[in-house]
Amino acid sequence: MLNPRVGMSRRGVVVAALATGALALSAPARAEAPAPHAVPGIHPRAAWRAAPALPGGRPHTAVRFGLHHTAGNLVGSAQAPSTLRGIQAFHQHGNGWIDLAYHVFVDADGAAWEGRDPALAGDTATTYDPAGYFLVCALGNFETTVPPAAQVEGIARVLAALSRARGLPLTTLAAHRDLAATLCPGAHLYALVEPIRARAIALAAATTP
Ligand SMILES: [Zn+2]
Repeated sequence: MLNPRVGMSRRGVVVAALATGALALSAPARAEAPAPHAVPGIHPRAAWRAAPALPGGRPHTAVRFGLHHTAGNLVGSAQAPSTLRGIQAFHQHGNGWIDLAYHVFVDADGAAWEGRDPALAGDTATTYDPAGYFLVCALGNFETTVPPAAQVEGIARVLAALSRARGLPLTTLAAHRDLAATLCPGAHLYALVEPIRARAIALAAATTP
């Protein structure tokens, strides 16, 4: 028998953990506290006034990282909430998906924003199966635009934070175009995948007690 109060309560804890950057709920219990301010928090869905996810979705366990871009406008933190609402509306009502396709977004200022519930597989309009991937998506079109340094650093920082919190190896980071016939995440960001992976590994090592 399902107890809806348990689900609500757990969800509330997840949101709280994301809001504080602790991100520790779905990782194995750790004795040590997360290093404060070592990594940025991820703005929770409430911060961008997300609509609820639609019912359904495929439960999965993320075991690797995938990197994407929106192929849309390069926007900073001030415009990120309205941009995310627009992406969500398009993904839910244009593509018929339950929610935004990706689990976390990073804006041009380097801030990270909570997307789809990481316990549910993402979606793609291309041929690979996103089940098993934790999908990180950079806001912008990096086929035509060079990502700002702050955004590149933000991607590395959120990858490091997620790796620490979820025990997810950074060596698994793949770009969408490694997996399917697509330009995503764009030539300029694709060229930075190796430096981003190296930076994330360094950050994760530096913040491990
Ligand atoms: Zn993609």
